[in-house]
Amino acid sequence: MKITALETIHSGAEGAMPALVFVRVHTDVGLHGTGDTFYLPQTVIAAIHEHIAPVLIGQDPTAIEQLWRALYNAYARFGGLGAEIRALSAVDVALWDLLGKSLGAPVHQLLGTAQSEIPTYNTCGGPLYASIAGGSQAGFGSSRKAGVLDDFDAFLHAPGDLARELVAEGARGMKLWPFDRFAQEHGSRAIAPGDLAEGVRVVREIRDAVGDAIEIMIDGHGLWDLTPAIRIARALEEFDVAWVEDLVLADKPHVLARLRAASRVPVSVSEYLVTRGQYLPVLQQEAADLVMIDPTWAGGITESRKIAVLADTYGLPVTYHDCTGPFTLMAGIHLAAATPNLRYQESVRAYLRVVYPEMVTVVPEVHAGTFEVPRAPGLGTELRDDILDRPGAVSRVSGTRPQ
Ligand SMILES: [Mg+2]
Repeated sequence: MKITALETIHSGAEGAMPALVFVRVHTDVGLHGTGDTFYLPQTVIAAIHEHIAPVLIGQDPTAIEQLWRALYNAYARFGGLGAEIRALSAVDVALWDLLGKSLGAPVHQLLGTAQSEIPTYNTCGGPLYASIAGGSQAGFGSSRKAGVLDDFDAFLHAPGDLARELVAEGARGMKLWPFDRFAQEHGSRAIAPGDLAEGVRVVREIRDAVGDAIEIMIDGHGLWDLTPAIRIARALEEFDVAWVEDLVLADKPHVLARLRAASRVPVSVSEYLVTRGQYLPVLQQEAADLVMIDPTWAGGITESRKIAVLADTYGLPVTYHDCTGPFTLMAGIHLAAATPNLRYQESVRAYLRVVYPEMVTVVPEVHAGTFEVPRAPGLGTELRDDILDRPGAVSRVSGTRPQ
């Protein structure tokens, strides 16, 4: 089997996720694998066609470690851990999908299955959560009411009702970001007492509504300086939240270590990091209680499993991130199934029920807060045939795609 073509597919700026890009790796035996990544799609598309395609075309797609290393070594010479590593991540996921299909096995079996089911929690974003062109918005603090399953609007305005609804569905946890809008409106340097109280009000209403029947996670999307982040974490102590994530940006391990030492609230670090090289100093400096990985940002399935092993070596559990694409979710689910130190696979019910079914043929279902371990070969889903029918959708091919 040889790689004959790399194809990128951007479904246009009009859809629910304009920052999402898909990549297909085609072969001379008629099989293909698919991956995706999220953020600056045109830059990722350029990286795939300018650099990755010439390296991969003609190669054996099953030599995943060899191909990964060849691409990574080129990027590491230029500090290239941005669009380049996301491009590599998407292609790596496609290669694992292809490997699984060629062997008739789900990807988690190739990694070594470790779980019989995969717990998930609901991240409370609505279907339009990532619909801003370019995907460059951090924090998503403004209301973007979508009509159905707008959990963002619900957690701000009726958090107790939302919590009761999620508990009735069997949800294990809910993640929300009730403090983001204050950083966006008033700046990151300090949080005013009234703003702190208003953010805490959301969490209190959830506990008042459902007690401890659901775990609560708080995201800060890297919007705060250290001092207000510490104030937020301390204000959350009485509510026994499962974790806070990205109250500060994750780029300075010593700052994370100070945040972690300053309150009793567990600190999760972070889907904003990529490759083992960025996670290791966080672990060495005891700056995290939990590790979060986005498989299509951090280096694909190949690198994510190594980050998970690294976390396990430090005694920490791993959660796989998803708000970022249907193949990212499937990559995370297969990784999760093969991760002994698994805590959660993240999911967004608005994406599972509204956004992803418009893109792919199979979307995993959540029952009682749990995904099943997949049984189909590869990742177990495909792009819909009509993905290119949308206005503004563009396919670009390097090499020779089978007709
Ligand atoms: Mg997050």
